[in-house]
Amino acid sequence: MAVREPDHQVFPKDGKRFTEEERQALVKKARPIFLERVAYYAPLMKVSPGRITVRTQKTRWGSCTERGNLNFNALLLLAPPEVLDSVVVHELCHLKYMNHSKYFYFELKRFYPEYKAAQAWLKENGRRLISMLPKEVLRRKRRRFFFFR
Ligand SMILES: [Zn+2]
Repeated sequence: MAVREPDHQVFPKDGKRFTEEERQALVKKARPIFLERVAYYAPLMKVSPGRITVRTQKTRWGSCTERGNLNFNALLLLAPPEVLDSVVVHELCHLKYMNHSKYFYFELKRFYPEYKAAQAWLKENGRRLISMLPKEVLRRKRRRFFFFR
């Protein structure tokens, strides 16, 4: 996988944790990027997603509801762009298959052949990204941040 550098402007200033303001700025910055990537892939894949939600999450990079609404983790902005794209394509594939069957993976491989490299990157670095969230966010249980616009 050709890995471009992630956008370092959005990294926490001290190289450790985001302040709450920085976390919110990250979500704001991430939203149009996810919308753009979804708008790029959805017609290629012939799928029509519902509402797109971007927030910071501790345990998920993306998810897809039964109604076809997609959620993405803003922390993916700190990953190489290819990793962000692979998560977008993964969730869009769920609009066709709401499972991780072989058919799902055929589809994922078709539109994002290097998905395994992206998965490996997240496995190796994901925890580090999540640890950049403000302490209060990490402590908070089950409370979510919605940024509808
Ligand atoms: Zn999945």
